[in-house]
Amino acid sequence: MRLLLLGGTAEARALAERLVTAGVDVTTSLAGRVANPRLPVGAVRIGGFGGIDGLRAALADYDAVVDATHPFAITMSANAAAACAAAGRPLLRLERPGWAARARPSWQWADSHEQAAVIAARLGRRPVLTIGRQQLASYLPELAEAAVLARVVDPPSMTVPPTWTVVTDRGPYALAGELALLREHRADVVVTKDSGGEYTWPKMLAAEELGLPVVIVRRPDRPAGVKCVYDVEQALAWVLTGD
Ligand code: NAP
Repeated sequence: MRLLLLGGTAEARALAERLVTAGVDVTTSLAGRVANPRLPVGAVRIGGFGGIDGLRAALADYDAVVDATHPFAITMSANAAAACAAAGRPLLRLERPGWAARARPSWQWADSHEQAAVIAARLGRRPVLTIGRQQLASYLPELAEAAVLARVVDPPSMTVPPTWTVVTDRGPYALAGELALLREHRADVVVTKDSGGEYTWPKMLAAEELGLPVVIVRRPDRPAGVKCVYDVEQALAWVLTGD
């Protein structure tokens, strides 16, 4: 069994470790977006495949694929579904559960970053954006003059307005640090994606403790017809037993 594991998440790293221990020939694929990615155990390849056709060609070297990319990496997931269907390779989606089950009354859901920006602008003038760097431009129209604090892993390529502060940091985060960040910025609203998981959950607890509203961007739709599991053990079982 030669397995291609589409990664870039903590779940993918955990699954790679379990697969290597189980003796599976696994190659983790990373997009190459961040400067110093946390590398999983086992073989690693870095960089895009060149769309659906490139991935389909690459699948000649693999027997099956697990898509454990981030819930918001929708292009990669769609490409994986199309390429695996075309190449006749089994595909499993491993996706951490979202935060809807833990929703608080102070959360406001948005269907897009643009909508999140509108809601955040209505709720405050000192927002903390924790939505990554790729979508920051979506917040410019509404928040160009606000005292934004944007926390990102790597600095954004765009020039941010003079009222914005960019902080580079990487999870997992602890509650004490999240409380300090929000207090020091005197934040009045927090914006996040529904990333799910534990790595970035403490900011939600910090916002709750400080009585701050949270604007949360809903997950995009997933490709239809792809089996999905929600934890590493289930993904391991699928690889080892096909179930
Ligand atoms: P995306 O928009 O869905 O993908 C854009 C393109 O990047 C894909 O078409 C593919 O290029 C390449 N790509 C993405 N993931 C890849 C992977 N694991 N291996 C090889 N190529 C990959 O993805 P994204 O949202 O930019 O995310 C990029 C990576 O960061 C993903 O691996 C994801 O797991 C991780 N990540 C994303 C987020 C997020 O919020 N989006 C957060 C944390 C981590 P080609 O078409 O050339 O194959």
